[in-house]
Amino acid sequence: MSESKCHVCGFAKPFIVHSKLHGMVTSDCQCYFPVHPEFKGCPACGYICVERDSPLETQELFRERYQFIQGEDDLEYMRFDSEIPTGVAGYLADLALEFIRPDPDFHYLDIGAGKGTLVQAVHSRQPEIGISAIEPSPAYETLSRRKCLQNHYHGFFRAEQFAEQTFDLITLIDVLEHVPDPLAFLQEIGQVMHENSYLLIEVPNFANNAFDVVTYDHLSKFVPDSLENLLTLAGFSVVKRWLPETVAMQMAVRKRSKDEPEVKLLPVDAGLILETAIGQFDFLLSKVHELLLKPVAFYGQSIVAPYLVGSGLISVERVKAMIDDNLMYQGQKWLQKVPIVALERFKNDCKAESQPPAILLTMNRCYHPRVAPKVSDMEVHGLCL
Ligand SMILES: [Zn+2]
Repeated sequence: MSESKCHVCGFAKPFIVHSKLHGMVTSDCQCYFPVHPEFKGCPACGYICVERDSPLETQELFRERYQFIQGEDDLEYMRFDSEIPTGVAGYLADLALEFIRPDPDFHYLDIGAGKGTLVQAVHSRQPEIGISAIEPSPAYETLSRRKCLQNHYHGFFRAEQFAEQTFDLITLIDVLEHVPDPLAFLQEIGQVMHENSYLLIEVPNFANNAFDVVTYDHLSKFVPDSLENLLTLAGFSVVKRWLPETVAMQMAVRKRSKDEPEVKLLPVDAGLILETAIGQFDFLLSKVHELLLKPVAFYGQSIVAPYLVGSGLISVERVKAMIDDNLMYQGQKWLQKVPIVALERFKNDCKAESQPPAILLTMNRCYHPRVAPKVSDMEVHGLCL
């Protein structure tokens, strides 16, 4: 397959979209400037990927330097608006439960397990099943200390390392978007699945996560229907989709048996999706220019915040606070300099100031409806309802 074809469906004429971006940020917040990314979109299957003028060796990034902020405990809240916050790992473990048979012969593998918060959450719900995990980054050191694991592997997933073994459930959480050839990767995972195995996948939902345009190591940008098309082409059938109003989405799939009819691809307008995402990014940049040199507070630790500082559009000295609703981060310093505070605390601090900082919404739009009423008494830029 030549480079110009779609990596996923082989369509001969994908289109290229240029952006005005002049840098990118890795998902663990390392800035790369200058980089001029282009996006390749497929009119046939909807697949979107990043083409960069200075390709980062992503395998090297993950093996050597990747330090995602996730802690050892499940403290990153999935839904911090509910009375009892649910951690991300707990939320995913609850989804996985539907596909688990409580049996010592049930084998579960987590690919790209990070520090092991998900395997721990699954184990606490189903202690009798056998759990294995694999992780290439330095997070493996923490993972390998998890007592709940039967086996743990340091490195990238390869089907050949599991020889004849199959797993009843595999989870692939925030991994697929990092993989250079997602079709081949999924097909390889299929080799360690049997006809009743399930695969639970989470990726960022580009429809809710427009700021992902600047994420250096998210090589693919999926919306629900383009992910389903990729899974179909890789030989899977989608059993269930979860599309929460957050930046992530999940799907559960199983292998399609040979006697099942070929599934038609869903129509996806990759051009419109890219135009919308780049438009949302440009909208935020236009708000940054309107702020001139005023002091600001960022609200939301999305990837766009390090982009604004790393690109020089806003100096870190101008950022007086990073507002974050998540208790996990409050009291810490963003970029080792900027205090991370709750919104109420920020509002209180503003009362004493003659020229309080303006709030710049650096969170994705899917969160704006929830946040808008809370900031209606403040000077806010970038709000879009
Ligand atoms: Zn395609």
